Amino acid sequence: MCQSAVQPNGMKDLQNEFGHVSDNYKRICENVENARAKYRSADEKIEIMAVTKTVAPEKINFAISQGITLLGENRVQEYLSKKDQYNKAAQVHIIGRLQTNKVKYIINEVSMIQSVDSIKLAKEINRLAEKNNRVMDVLLEINIGDEASKSGVAAEGLDELIYETAQLENVRIKGLMAIPPIGCGEDMFDRMHSIFLRVKEMAVPNVSMEILSMGMSGDYETAIKHGSNLVRIGTALFGARNYLEG
Ligand SMILES: *Cc1c(COP(=O)(O)O)cnc(C)c1O
Repeated sequence: MCQSAVQPNGMKDLQNEFGHVSDNYKRICENVENARAKYRSADEKIEIMAVTKTVAPEKINFAISQGITLLGENRVQEYLSKKDQYNKAAQVHIIGRLQTNKVKYIINEVSMIQSVDSIKLAKEINRLAEKNNRVMDVLLEINIGDEASKSGVAAEGLDELIYETAQLENVRIKGLMAIPPIGCGEDMFDRMHSIFLRVKEMAVPNVSMEILSMGMSGDYETAIKHGSNLVRIGTALFGARNYLEG
């Protein structure tokens, strides 16, 4: 993983402008590899997602030229306004709170929805996926810190959501996602890992626990220690977000 792609002509100016992104990416790759070597087995693959909220398309495409193959989008409106400019070499996942009435805009524009936290949302994804002749991969998002401000199903409600969603033919559960509260102890990450392993053992038909999406710029090494295999990185890759621009 993490080899940089061959650079086409004209990349030199971009290298000047976005050189920090390639430096950051190299450092993140090293940190991920070191954490994997320290805590995980040799055959485990850990994917790095670039979280692109507020980031300009040229900069996103530069990150793709450096080897990024997966993008995470939070806001439907923002994604729709930028997506036509993206290099199509990268896949896109929705990672932010998704309103049921917005599913129709992204059903054919993403390869996964990581933020499914209600049966109502799962059913709407299923309805539109069926209509568009596809199966949508999803992760179920757990509100592991029980924070009122965060989306995600409460850990206590997870099993019910799994059994109900597993009935939907055009939705496939691929794993779990969580945003442990900033600065929380490691036990929160460990708890998430335990839930992931428990659900895997439940072996529910139509449910495969392949992905544990956990860890952001400030805590991805901790997340890898506790079983994450998909880290979602924004700030550490692109720099601080400027919301005025976004
Ligand atoms: C913004 C965001 C991230 C990335 O956060 P950083 O701290 O900038 O790396 C990851 N996951 C989700 C769901 C986000 O909204």
